[in-house]
Amino acid sequence: MIKLFFLLFLINFLSLQVFAKEFRTNELEIHNAPDWLMQPKVEKVTDSIQQKLEWRIRRIPLFWHQSESSFVKAQTLGPTPAAVTIKSKQKTEIHMGPQVNKKNYEQILGHELVHVIFYQKYNGAIPQWLEEGFANDLSKKEAVNYKWLSQQKIPEDVTKMGHPFKGIPSEIHTQYKVSQALVEMLKKKCDLENLLRLSVERKMTDYIKTYCEIKDINQSFKEWILKKI
Ligand SMILES: [Zn+2]
Repeated sequence: MIKLFFLLFLINFLSLQVFAKEFRTNELEIHNAPDWLMQPKVEKVTDSIQQKLEWRIRRIPLFWHQSESSFVKAQTLGPTPAAVTIKSKQKTEIHMGPQVNKKNYEQILGHELVHVIFYQKYNGAIPQWLEEGFANDLSKKEAVNYKWLSQQKIPEDVTKMGHPFKGIPSEIHTQYKVSQALVEMLKKKCDLENLLRLSVERKMTDYIKTYCEIKDINQSFKEWILKKI
């Protein structure tokens, strides 16, 4: 009997261990992390994004969800996204869903950290239609496939893409790629680091006109896609 009790205890203990790691870095307080998540790797991703955006994150919680139901309960965007960052006056927190794994977490974490810094540092200066593009670009998401993009239905006015993106999953996916392609275009037309630096004080859209010399973003974007095919 005692043996059985001990065995049950051991099984319970081990299963908790697979998904019960808690630790904190200077920037993140991580809850329920999977066993394979290593602090030095988390710090490496965080440092890289902080360096690119010249900011030290004020520490926020990051919750790891092993089940879809717990992930869906924690945020309002449903089960589709891999991860979600909640940004409000009451709380800023990252939620990692069950699709996040050992292979993709560095890119996904980097992406979410860009959202956190945009919220803490830029205070709305970066337009919503560019935010996902920056998050993808800075977290080294694979570059845009322009041949594919040219075959998609691109919004007539890209500056009308709100946040979070709306529509059926394929339309949402296209909007992410449009936003990323817009950032790739900006990178070619002006110094992106400087553009980000300037935009702390005033709206980035103003600098896109003056500093990047893009008068009509929709027209320039059409030409950019044609050039890239
Ligand atoms: Zn995002």
